[in-house]
Amino acid sequence: MIVILKEKNPNPKQLEPLISWLESLDVGTQFTVGARQTIIGLTGDTSVVDIDLIKSMEIVDDVKRVQEPYKKANRKFHADDTVIDVNGVKLGGGQFQMIAGPCSVESREQICLVAQRVKAAGATMLRGGAFKPRTSPYSFQGLQADGLSLLLEAKKLTGLPIVTEIMNISHLPLFEDVDVIQVGARNMQNYDLLKELGRTNKPILLKRGLANTLEELLMSAEYIMSGGNEKVILCERGIRTFETATRNTLDISAIPVLHNKTHLPVIVDPSHAAGIASLVKPLALASTMAGADGLIIEVHNDPPRALCDGAQSLTPEAFDKLAYEVRNVLPLVQKRDG
Ligand code: PEP
Ligand code: MN
Repeated sequence: MIVILKEKNPNPKQLEPLISWLESLDVGTQFTVGARQTIIGLTGDTSVVDIDLIKSMEIVDDVKRVQEPYKKANRKFHADDTVIDVNGVKLGGGQFQMIAGPCSVESREQICLVAQRVKAAGATMLRGGAFKPRTSPYSFQGLQADGLSLLLEAKKLTGLPIVTEIMNISHLPLFEDVDVIQVGARNMQNYDLLKELGRTNKPILLKRGLANTLEELLMSAEYIMSGGNEKVILCERGIRTFETATRNTLDISAIPVLHNKTHLPVIVDPSHAAGIASLVKPLALASTMAGADGLIIEVHNDPPRALCDGAQSLTPEAFDKLAYEVRNVLPLVQKRDG
């Protein structure tokens, strides 16, 4: 981090408190006196430094970070891709996985049928929401604890590991047999939730917030990782833009940008990005070609009657076609280091 002072010779009364504060944080200082301004180079672990606080000081002109504020998620400190083992299913570092299932678990028949169909089509994990973050409090909120029990039944039936969203940390005991805990877009910056999940040893599927930058997504991953849980899967699921033709705008660039910045696996959710079932396949193929480590896709046995997100849900037949086409393009994907 570089602190640019307004003047070449700042008032020592204003400079000393800044230096002693930095020293108290174990941050070293190196001065470069220029023709008009003095620059202080900060050395050591500057992740603890509050950049806005320094910027607000009277003697300071500007502050610039040279290194990203995330460490554990940073590829600079961990060159190899992280591969996450979900009950024997490996995701990341060239191992591509398809996660599929309904937006929400609705009944035993529904989740078991969809689980069997997506497995037959090539999905290697089953998704299904039990606790649903709905925009309206009057909409179906999910079957909650009963939904989790039904997901576990579908897991037993098919052997597919299950992925489901947690909304409240007090529910964590219910997630003991869940294989991947999802943090939804709306909770990406629920830092207390992230900290608690950092104390678990379960893989966490962290979805990008509706209006969050990639750096913010990585800082949220850092919350989980700094607690000791390094098993984080990042998920691009579309962001809010001025465009209204789709539910969200899929940020394809997020895939190569994240691969560059982090060693964590990156998957894509084309269903929530599109909001329209017919767009899911092209977005899934584009994401695969852009280097995603996997896809998470909503599939329902009867989309028009789905209790949640029917418009973007694929039928099992449509998912079957998508999975077939994704498998066909996968070998064409250039190796990231190639
Ligand atoms: C979901 O996966 O069902 C979901 C609610 O997704 P998001 O948090 O991305 O909106
Ligand atoms: Mn959904």
